[in-house]
This record gives sequence, C-alpha cells and structure tokens, in this order.
Amino acid sequence: MMITSDQWVERQLKMRKNIHMGGDLVGRDHPQIVPGRNVIAKTYDIAQDPKYKGIVTAISHLDGQEVNRWCNLHFSIEDLLAKQKSTRCGIHNCGFCIQRCMGNDGLNALYVVTRELDDKYNTDYHKKFQEYIKYFQKNDITSALAQTDVKGDRTKRPGQQKNPDSYVRVVEKKKDGIVVRGSKAHITMVAYSDEVIVLPTRVMTEEEKDYALAFTLPADHKNLHIINRASSPRPRKIFKAPMAECGSSDAVLVFDDVVVPWERVFMCGEYKEAGRLALLFANYHRHAYCGCKPGVTDVIMGFTQLVAKYSGVEKVQHVKHEMADLIAVAELIYAAGIASSVNAQKSSSGVMIPDAIYSNVGRRLAGQNIYHEHDVLVSIAGGLTATLPFEDEFINAETARFLDKYMLRKDGVSAEDIHRCFRSIGDLSCSSFGGVWQIAGVHGGGSPIMETIAILANYDLQKKEDIAKYLAGINNPAKKDSEIFSGEEDDLDKFRKFIKAR
Ligand SMILES: Cc1cc2nc3c(=O)[nH]c(=O)nc-3n(C[C@H](O)[C@H](O)[C@H](O)COP(=O)(O)OP(=O)(O)OC[C@H]3O[C@@H](n4cnc5c(N)ncnc54)[C@H](O)[C@@H]3O)c2cc1C
Repeated sequence: MMITSDQWVERQLKMRKNIHMGGDLVGRDHPQIVPGRNVIAKTYDIAQDPKYKGIVTAISHLDGQEVNRWCNLHFSIEDLLAKQKSTRCGIHNCGFCIQRCMGNDGLNALYVVTRELDDKYNTDYHKKFQEYIKYFQKNDITSALAQTDVKGDRTKRPGQQKNPDSYVRVVEKKKDGIVVRGSKAHITMVAYSDEVIVLPTRVMTEEEKDYALAFTLPADHKNLHIINRASSPRPRKIFKAPMAECGSSDAVLVFDDVVVPWERVFMCGEYKEAGRLALLFANYHRHAYCGCKPGVTDVIMGFTQLVAKYSGVEKVQHVKHEMADLIAVAELIYAAGIASSVNAQKSSSGVMIPDAIYSNVGRRLAGQNIYHEHDVLVSIAGGLTATLPFEDEFINAETARFLDKYMLRKDGVSAEDIHRCFRSIGDLSCSSFGGVWQIAGVHGGGSPIMETIAILANYDLQKKEDIAKYLAGINNPAKKDSEIFSGEEDDLDKFRKFIKAR
C-alpha cells in the first residue's frame, strides 16, 4: 500500500515527544525538524507521480500490490537498477540526500542474514522478519537506520572498552523481550521516521556476543532518546525555492534500557554473523551511494553550468574542462552502481546482493571527489557565493534598487535570477548546512578507508601478480603451465554464464 505525504505527516504528528533539541523536549512539528520531514514527504509525493511509476514504485513480492521502492526487497537485477535510478531522481527533487535509502538497505541486509541464521541455527528470525516486512509495506513505513555505535576508544574492541556501553548491547533477556543499552551516533532522519532499524557496526568475537544484536523499534519507543541536531538552508522570506524548504537531522540515539519485544529481535548473540550483517548493510548502502552521489553531482554540475552562463564564461576552455571533470565523476560512480547491480548474486533468501567490489569502488570515488566538486563549483562561481548580501537587502526597497542594478551580469538575465542562483550555491557550499553535507559525502556509508579495506578484502590481487609473472617470464612454481592465471578458467566460465543469462 502507498500512503500520501499528508497521511504520513499526520502519523508523524501523533508520535510521542522524545526529541531533545535546543535544550527542550520537542515534537515532530518543531520548525527546525520540518525541513528534514519535507524531504521524506517528497518520497511519498513522487511515488504518487505517474512520471516515476515503476522507478520510485515497485511491485511487492508479497501480494503483487504497488509499494514505494523504499519499502521493497530487491529480488532482481532490475530492482537494484531501479533503486539506483530512484535515488538519483529523488535527489533532483530536494537538492541533496533523499535519506530514505538507509532503511531500505537495512531491510534487504536483514532479509538475507535472517534467512542464513535460520538455516544455520534453526532460529525463527526470518519468519519474524517476513512478518515485519508485511507490516512495513502495508503501512508504507519510513525507517532510519542506526548502525554506527559511539565506539569510545577507536583502538579498542567493543569488549575492551572502559565503558561497556560504547557499543549497543543486550543487558538482560526477559520473557517479553530483551533489554538494550547503549548509543548510536550520527543517526540521520530518526527525528522524522516511523521506525528505526538497529544493526551491529562490526565483526564481533565470542566474548562480544551481547553486542551481536539486530532489532527494530518505533522511533518514539519508551526509553529511546533522540538527541537531535537539525540542518537546513537559511529560511527564505520572499524568494522561496524548493531546495530551501528541505533539510536534514542527525541524532545521538540513546537506548536507556529499552525493552525490545522478541518479535522485533532479528539477531541476538550470533556473533559469527554480526560482521556479515554489518558488511552486507554497508554493501547495500554503498550501492545506494552509487545512485545518490551522481544525483548530488548533478545538482553541483547544474549550478556550476548555470552560474557560468550567468557570468558569461561557460564557453571558456578551463570551465568546459572542469565541467567534464564533474560529468566523469558522476557517471563513473553511476556506472559502478550499474556494474554492481548487473553482477549481483542471489542470496539463499532470493534477495539479490550487489557486487561488493563495484559498490565499494563507486562509493570510494564519491568520497574522494566531494571536495573537488565543491572546489569546481566555487572557483567558477566566484566570491559572491560567500559575500551575497542577506535576503532582507533584496526585499528592502531602499537597497533593492541598488542590488537590482549592481547584481546584473549577462544580458537578459534578471537580477533576481542571479540572486537566486548565488543564494542556492551559498546554501550548498558556504553554509553550515552545506558543510554537513560535504562531510556526509566523505563519511556517510563509511569513511573512504572503510571502502579501501572492503576492496582489498574482496579483490584477488594474487591473480594480477600471476599475470605479471607470466608476462615477465618469471618462474611461478605455485602454478602448473595449464593454470598460469589462478582462477582464470572459473572467471571465464562465470562470465560465459553471465552473458548467457542476459
Ligand atoms: C552526515 C552524516 C550522516 C550519517 N548518517 C548515519 C546514519 O543514518 N546511520 C548510521 O549508522 N551512521 C551514519 N553516519 C555515520 C558514518 O557511517 C560514520 O561517520 C562513519 O562510519 C565513520 O565513523 P565515525 O564518524 O565514528 O568516525 P571514526 O570511527 O572516528 O573514524 C574517523 C577516522 O579515524 C580513523 N580510524 C577510526 N578507527 C580506526 C581504527 N580502528 N584503526 C585505524 N584507523 C581508524 C580512520 O581514518 C577514520 O576515517 C553518518 C555520518 C555523517 C557524517
């Protein structure tokens, strides 16, 4: 089922007040929370728009009903491709992160791992999770995803921390559920989501089995505290703009001995699979980034091209070359996402798992280029990005008459359009809101070092070394003549099967 944005907002407003912000306990109607809420509202609006049918919407595997793509499980390569496309389109509607992908990435990772847990330990997590998916799709749920623990001393493992609650853990198992204590940091959109999905952040050892924990909760559950920080462009008084209506929130989420009912517990103590779940979620989320980041670059590229035209420099050679840089980054990341989708493997649950090498190289390229992209935008835009007078001076007739004269650049472009263009570039590149999203571009979905580790863990470098030895005529005693390149035959067979399946 799909609900409208109005129905969703109505549901939000009924939630218990558990958001701490600006020294107060606030509701989901707080003016600083509304811009973030507007972004999620757009995910409901665009799902109703026939233009996006089949892209932002999907057909449920449960009952053949149309659902929002962010509630869907990816049972095919086409689903993965559509998820990437819908993320990119979503960003064009708000100007930055569409936010709702994280919950969807958590759903898919949990669907795969709960099935693997049941197969291995004869548990009933998958059955319970299937019920949860039914509830999720039936109610068109929006969920935040809480993975990143506060982590304490970065050089120590969860079990070695002075504060044992530095990673979220189970402190008691009761008849009606488990008692959970700890805190997750940086949790985006939990201040305006229906639910929160909680996953482990790393590999756990046997001594750390209390930290091997996955569950879901309503975002206003008893003893759950959202210590929130909201970001949005400076509100517009007169010169309203779609991007200026949007924003985000990130929170320190505190589990103060929260009771999670058993039917919502999807991993509890299976420490050997904690790393599998953590990395699988990261893989889905990096695949999402391969649609998200090109969308963000589209916005940066659009403003760079627009301001170049308004300043009359769009045909200058270095400007054209820098535009080509932006195009190359956006489309290479998007291509990595396509490659990750088409090379996906089916899990035992039937849900497709994107190829981890391609999702990680795409996400890594995104993180490494985010500041370069802003560098291109601000160097071509010039200093007015930082020094544009406040909106009031464009409203006050006394000063507006000067600004309307002195803001003018290219013939045929009004002072108002030039003002609007620079105000939006300022929001993106020279504001506290822009700063948050630049850092999100580096660390969201895992810092670049995490992608580097994932790439090195999954990539067969030995094979490349064998190729070099063969080409150089170096004796390779580990290999017979018939297997000069390790794994080459398997690889070619896999490729033949892949081509045949298309
Ligand atoms: C805007 C924003 C939104 C986010 N939203 C979410 C969200 O919704 N849900 C969620 O779960 N997470 C979210 N994140 C968290 C994000 O995934 C983390 O920021 C990221 O994984 C890095 O973790 P950290 O910030 O704790 O940095 P740290 O762990 O402190 O790492 C910082 C750096 O320290 C070094 N380092 C750290 N540990 C080690 C080590 N053991 N060995 C060697 N070097 C090390 C690395 O260089 C690393 O890059 C968000 C982050 C941002 C910025």
